Amino acid sequence: MNSDFRFLDDLGPAKIIQIYEPAVGLKAFVVVDNIAAGPAIGGLRIGPDVTAEECFRLARAMTFKNAAAGLSHGGGKAVLVGDPTMPAGDKERLIRAFASAIRDLKDYVVGPDMGTNERCMAWIHDEIGRAVGLPAVLGGIPLDEIGATGYGLTAAIEAAQDFCDIRIEGARVAVQGFGAVGKHAARFLAERGAILVAASDSHGMVSASDGLDVQAVIGHKAKGESLASLPGGNADRDAILDVPCDIWIPAARPDVLTEDNVGRLKARMVAEGANIPATPGAEAALHARGVLVLPDFIANAGGVICASVEYHGGNRTMALQSIHEKLSDNTRAVLQHARDAGTPPREAAIEIAEARVRQATALRRWG
Ligand code: NAD
Repeated sequence: MNSDFRFLDDLGPAKIIQIYEPAVGLKAFVVVDNIAAGPAIGGLRIGPDVTAEECFRLARAMTFKNAAAGLSHGGGKAVLVGDPTMPAGDKERLIRAFASAIRDLKDYVVGPDMGTNERCMAWIHDEIGRAVGLPAVLGGIPLDEIGATGYGLTAAIEAAQDFCDIRIEGARVAVQGFGAVGKHAARFLAERGAILVAASDSHGMVSASDGLDVQAVIGHKAKGESLASLPGGNADRDAILDVPCDIWIPAARPDVLTEDNVGRLKARMVAEGANIPATPGAEAALHARGVLVLPDFIANAGGVICASVEYHGGNRTMALQSIHEKLSDNTRAVLQHARDAGTPPREAAIEIAEARVRQATALRRWG
């Protein structure tokens, strides 16, 4: 194929746009991938070395993530060349120029990503009247404050109870990464009777075989303290891999579970809060051992569902309702399909997402 068209397949992308505005030093790419289900939602990433290829791959990932979440949105992404830590005035000028450039690209709705936040989304909204991940004063739903992703993770685990012999009530849970996703997952699970036996952050971990006081741990972190300084804490953050538990929740970084360390895990379920926390080899090893893995783009979809509810003018109560409903339905559909087809849940999830995109695409005349 002509290398200019190397990203094209039967699903998209519908548009690849290069934006260049030398007067302000603006260089960006936007990829609007498949928009059969509805306008594309996807983040704006700022980085010194972002590429068109990266932008396409992230846009395609959003197509599948939105479809897997059961949202009437396609996938899109934008990357802007720059230092994410540039002075605020420079950043505002660049982002406002970027927003003006995509004014007529009505089938792409911008959300926050690496290097951008709710303030950046407010500038875009101010310029062109659309963006998600907005500040609350502009109708935004503060997803990290309400714990959207941790809440969704809990709903996914709840639904998975029908497919395994783990019950949240009394389940022993270990959470790697006690930030926006991890602490809320721990809180919602504890409210349903689970016992938090270990938690880690980038400086260390804490464990207690008879259970930690979740609110006390959250309060300790809120003071800027590391988990290592709690009673029962230590500086070896990776020791959380060795803690015997029923449910292990990665909620920190990509690729924390590899073929080399996955043998240390003593859990019966891995509920993926972080994006791609396990390498394909590690996931295969878990599946072979009978450990139920709830794949990231199903289990951590609370954030994208929240963004969609915000886009449609909903409030935080509606967001939580929608997250619960979609995460329960999607988790059940994926685990049922995995059981019927005898495949790992991730494979089943990809098949379901792709089928949804193709179904929507088949209803179009053209883009
Ligand atoms: P965060 O920055 O709020 O929290 C991350 C936590 O992980 C921090 O406590 C940090 O100390 C800890 N950490 C970092 N490296 C670690 C390590 N090696 N071992 C143990 N702990 C470590 O981030 P977040 O918003 O909670 O996101 C966590 C992950 O979930 C990321 O992969 C993110 O992409 C993904 N995710 C987040 C959301 C969301 O709604 N925030 C949605 C979907 C996916």
